[in-house]
Amino acid sequence: HSYFLHLFLIVALGSVVTTHVSNPVVPSPLRPLLHLQGNLSFDDAPLAAKDFGNIYQLLPAAVLYPASVSDVVSTVQHVFQLGPRSKLTVAARGHGHSLQGQAQTDGGIVVRMEALGGGTRVVHQQHGGQPYADASGGELWINVLVECLKHGLAPKSWTDYLHLTVGGTLSNAGISGQAFRHGPQISNVYQLEIVTGKGEVMNCSEEENSELFHAARGGLGQFGIITRAQIALEPAPEMVRWIRVLYSDFTSFTEDQEMLISAKETFDYIEGFVITNRTGLINNWRSSFNPRDPVRASQFDSDGKILFCLEMTKNFNQHEAESMDQQVEQHLSKLRYLPSTLFQSEVSYLEFLDRVHASEVKLRSKGLWDVPHPWLNLFIPRARIKDFAREVFGKILRDSSSRGPILLYPLNRSKWDNRTSAVIPDEEIFYLVALLSSAPSHGSLEEALKQNRKILDFCNKEGIKMKQYLPYYTTQEEWRGHYGDRWEMFAHRKGIYDPLSILAPGQRIFHKAV
Ligand code: FAD
Repeated sequence: HSYFLHLFLIVALGSVVTTHVSNPVVPSPLRPLLHLQGNLSFDDAPLAAKDFGNIYQLLPAAVLYPASVSDVVSTVQHVFQLGPRSKLTVAARGHGHSLQGQAQTDGGIVVRMEALGGGTRVVHQQHGGQPYADASGGELWINVLVECLKHGLAPKSWTDYLHLTVGGTLSNAGISGQAFRHGPQISNVYQLEIVTGKGEVMNCSEEENSELFHAARGGLGQFGIITRAQIALEPAPEMVRWIRVLYSDFTSFTEDQEMLISAKETFDYIEGFVITNRTGLINNWRSSFNPRDPVRASQFDSDGKILFCLEMTKNFNQHEAESMDQQVEQHLSKLRYLPSTLFQSEVSYLEFLDRVHASEVKLRSKGLWDVPHPWLNLFIPRARIKDFAREVFGKILRDSSSRGPILLYPLNRSKWDNRTSAVIPDEEIFYLVALLSSAPSHGSLEEALKQNRKILDFCNKEGIKMKQYLPYYTTQEEWRGHYGDRWEMFAHRKGIYDPLSILAPGQRIFHKAV
């Protein structure tokens, strides 16, 4: 076993193995890391080469399970001190739910952030300040939520799925149906503790080291490893009314979405999705269909037509049920959905926020979770969303057999802090269009990738100024295009906080000079 490991390490580390190796297993550049409090594993390298996307696999040299922030510091400092001639890089890995190897490193060190510990501490600010959760960067959002609920509190802004880490989503943006109101998760943090690419620990916020604070939010892990975050909280409701309604007309659907996100009195969560199933009959659904279960709206058989599902929630506490009911009635009365396609139920706040986990359990039981996921997430400016829908839903998707949910909901630029590294279209309202394809076979992967390419080509050809969310590019030229006139600032910040390009190499933006 150790022979193969040795061989593998020599191959993986290539030119970095320069000194005499007296211990045959661990190459010299990694040996100082054996003295850390945490554990350096060589056996887990294949696991760290996988992610949710299940398309790319880069084998690291070793996997660090840090026992403390100082382990992370020592590791990055060590790699920094090896200088530009060493090929070693460091990839923080949250829950590994990246799609194209963003949390991987070819022959470097993967840091398993979940091992960091430190949990979540709820801080009730005295003197009229706001409460916040002080959470480890490797903490899963579900754990943050469960801890906060013990105090009757909850974070304000979410992702649809909670088995993602705090550091992982803050490195992107973190969006869901609450973002129209509170902004993305990166607009809802007060302070971060970060280990930079030089191995320094820095606290940063609006007031302190603000350049790093702005850089790291939505920074794709390029400026430092987030080891702690102070997350904005609000009182948690006990329950939510969860509602779905259907539209056959795209214009009414998006106009209603836009009206709702702009209204003063509105829902607490607003999303939407596209239903594109092509077979079967509608079967008198108008007269016989009036279920209470909102999930059933997504299983609606649209008989070849494309339908659009608007999804909303209203938060409430038990004693406010009656007034909530009236408010919901009032908001719904302004909408133009298909009559008798109102699906609704009441669930606990926890059950609602953790809803995607229930789908995960189902998909896992059918062996359909660990398949390739050629996802494509785009921010489309409002001015072009109809052109986009006409071509993509009306033509490209019709000609393709690729399958998976398609989310479509509006966001508002004014809720985003334009000093962060996140990139969004240059228009007040823009749409997230998330094509969440699953590809259980080689053929279906090819098909989905082809579909994605067609969509991107269409946007380019038609001059739709979209931005990729969870961006995937492979050349610096493409990254420059993505950042546009913000590229210089992005690269400048990189030079300050990670001058040797050690961190998050799986994003393929900067390459360590060797
Ligand atoms: P990883 O995949 O482990 O890491 C992502 C990137 O961040 C890597 O480059 C990594 O090196 C870096 N990184 C990880 N931890 C840190 C850290 N502590 N400090 C600095 N850099 C770090 N996103 C949304 O916004 N909204 C959604 O509703 C949503 N739903 C999703 C549902 C599913 C099923 C999946 C698979 C993804 C979803 N995402 C969503 C995308 C998700 O936010 C990103 O993929 C996110 O990066 C995953 O977090 P992670 O902890 O798995 O990070």
